[in-house]
Amino acid sequence: MHVLIVGAGLGGLSLAQTLRKQGISFEIFERDTDADARFQGWAIALYSIVDALVDSYPADLPDLRASVDHLAPLKLPAQITLWPPGREERVGFQDSPDQPLIRAERSRLRRWLSTNIPIQWGKRVTRIDNSDDGVSVQFEDGGSAHGDILIGADGINSIVRQHLLNRPSSDLLQVVPLATVIGQLDLSGEALKRQLALGHSGYMCIRPDLGFVTFTGLHYVAADGESARFYWNLMQFDGDIASEDHWLRAATGEQKLAHVLQTTRGLPAKQREIFELTAPGQIKHETHVWRDVQLDAESLPPGRVVLMGDAAHAMMPFRGEGGYHTLVDSLVLGKALGALAAGDRFEDVAAVRQAVAEYNAVMLRRAGQAVRDSRNLNMNAQRFGPDGLPLDPAKVPPIVPLPDVEIVLGVGARLGGA
Ligand SMILES: Cc1cc2nc3c(=O)[nH]c(=O)nc-3n(C[C@H](O)[C@H](O)[C@H](O)COP(=O)(O)OP(=O)(O)OC[C@H]3O[C@@H](n4cnc5c(N)ncnc54)[C@H](O)[C@@H]3O)c2cc1C
Repeated sequence: MHVLIVGAGLGGLSLAQTLRKQGISFEIFERDTDADARFQGWAIALYSIVDALVDSYPADLPDLRASVDHLAPLKLPAQITLWPPGREERVGFQDSPDQPLIRAERSRLRRWLSTNIPIQWGKRVTRIDNSDDGVSVQFEDGGSAHGDILIGADGINSIVRQHLLNRPSSDLLQVVPLATVIGQLDLSGEALKRQLALGHSGYMCIRPDLGFVTFTGLHYVAADGESARFYWNLMQFDGDIASEDHWLRAATGEQKLAHVLQTTRGLPAKQREIFELTAPGQIKHETHVWRDVQLDAESLPPGRVVLMGDAAHAMMPFRGEGGYHTLVDSLVLGKALGALAAGDRFEDVAAVRQAVAEYNAVMLRRAGQAVRDSRNLNMNAQRFGPDGLPLDPAKVPPIVPLPDVEIVLGVGARLGGA
């Protein structure tokens, strides 16, 4: 069996590792010319899936935590604080021996997932043909490839989805009515310590009473442990955000920052500091319009072309789950492909249809719910495990009081005491 994977993002690479482990032949095509061609995003939380990922991949990958931890070289546990109105004490999620939580820097995670994967760069798929016997793709550069199964791991604007449903992305992507302003800045010294003390990996101020939600996140700590890059998002309900003449489209960094400072003035001073430390030039210029995708299983024809990840279920990052569900897809799909490879069952198109229909139904039920929960910022929503089934409540990372520890900067810093 030969599998073609379109897209070397988190999903495509994770699936490639599961195929490599099972000795299944594959090729993986990426439109970007190299790993650094495009910003890969900030950080992503991995929990309750860590053991399953490592077990499903070959043994030649380096240690996951050491390779991707965004707090390294600081010796602080990953931790996200949640601040609803009126709460003074810190509560949230924290890494612990019983409930491992790794906050992965995105480009490090992608590099780790790329270990010994022969990515074919600069291969933008422009056309797909499939029949009961096989699939072929054509690339912008004139080349082509042929296989038995094609995986669309090509993200929110998936060309594979467009082929499968015969509908353009513009028909399927739903605008999320949120206006977002994004800032990025480097901090060091006491200002860095103060941000880490609010939440080692990040903190969310959920303020329906003030009309906004903010997420401030650590992107990564510099190699010397003395400085770090942060990002923040301020999000407000706005049904007009997709309009071409929305004020944010023409606004300068100064105007956006003034809006953020005015909007967040009701926050406690320490939660406001990150905005006050930001310079106008550190505000992202582009206006971000969030879109999500919900497909139903009936509309997705089962066969030799299969969707996974954002191609099937792009979602808002509120609950930090889009990449998580993408990785779950890769584990579930990797097993389904393993079963089709066994005894050459993939040659029987009826067997392929049945396996893919089962995968689609379970994947879309699970991830479709996550799309809705992310849009609605449902913090109590069902979580799912690496097998794609509802997670045993004992394994759901609990919201706990977060202890304050002394923050020590630098390389080789010890974990401070309370
Ligand atoms: C701002 C932001 C913050 C987020 N934060 C989190 C978080 O904290 N936690 C979390 O779990 N998730 C988060 N997500 C969601 C997460 O990033 C996505 O769910 C995840 O990246 C999806 O992986 P994917 O492999 O399906 O798609 P992608 O990562 O988008 O990868 C798709 C790949 O396909 C390639 N490609 C596209 N078209 C073609 C083509 N025609 N030919 C060849 N290659 C092609 C692309 O270049 C890309 O490399 C966030 C998303 C955003 C936008």
